[in-house]
Amino acid sequence: MTSSVDESLLSDFLAFTLAGARPSVASGVASSGVRWTWQGEGVLLLEPAQTQLQTQRQTHSVLASAGIHGDETAPIEMLSRLVADIANGNAPLAARMLVVLGNAAAMRAGVRYIDDDLNRLFSGRHANLPASAEAPRAVELERTAAAFFENATHAKWHIDMHTAIRASVFEQFALLPHTGAPLDRAMFDWLRDARLEAVLLHREKGATFTHYTAEQCGALACTLELGKVRPFGENDLARFAASDAALRRLIAGEAAAQPMPLRVFTVVAQIDKLSEQFVLNVASDVPNFTPFPAGTELARDGDYTYRVTHEEERIVFPNPKVKPGLRAGLMVVDTTDATLASLD
Ligand SMILES: [Zn+2]
Repeated sequence: MTSSVDESLLSDFLAFTLAGARPSVASGVASSGVRWTWQGEGVLLLEPAQTQLQTQRQTHSVLASAGIHGDETAPIEMLSRLVADIANGNAPLAARMLVVLGNAAAMRAGVRYIDDDLNRLFSGRHANLPASAEAPRAVELERTAAAFFENATHAKWHIDMHTAIRASVFEQFALLPHTGAPLDRAMFDWLRDARLEAVLLHREKGATFTHYTAEQCGALACTLELGKVRPFGENDLARFAASDAALRRLIAGEAAAQPMPLRVFTVVAQIDKLSEQFVLNVASDVPNFTPFPAGTELARDGDYTYRVTHEEERIVFPNPKVKPGLRAGLMVVDTTDATLASLD
């Protein structure tokens, strides 16, 4: 460590990033022995202290990201504290780790995004919106993630932490991207270790950061929705303790603590907004995973109607205010038993 600016890179990565600071040197060794490399704004590579034994031992690689939506403050603060604990030796690091604070400009402005939702611009989708403030960042994060996972021969993980905008029947839940690859028990074990209450399985390709890392890098990737948040400094991080602890166990190479029950839901349909005539027949603040019985008409748009066809369907991410042509909600059904039985 050569200057106080460099010290704050590790002791307060969030403040360092918000300040737009640059370290005087690109890499160094923390007091814990962990080697750090600053790869650009909000991107920090952390590698385990090199002992003779460890140089011969392959280990796993973990990308942990937050702030892909700039106003989702709690996981950003959590990740920043984790960096400090890794640097000072309080959090053991056995994995190669890439820490990513996603949308620094939006974080500074206290908004979800500047021009476009960054988490809809991955897997090349940024090319459709080249003038967007978020497009260059999506390109950069794709390259950074690809470089991090390239040549990694052991397990590759990506935990992308978010907080939901709305209330939810399950306060903390995860989303797994769809790549066509079989579901991996290790991921389900980790989600249970993190005490997530539910997991939602996508059945179509997406343009999220985790979709990119799952499909292009072969990572075990999940998006976590960790409940509601407040401005920087006002979050009760205790509510996020289980995810924090599970992430710390993952990077330390430790076994899961006490697996908790986990409900699994699979996407069966989406509600489309075709025009400005679109009407969603549920309250705009209906909690995620609210169930509806067969026959319920949930949306209407001219001749198009969305009616529940399964015995029970639950609505997730309803949003009648999206632009026409976009998804106004996802419909999911409970597939817990079948999914868990299909693992291995
Ligand atoms: Zn988010």
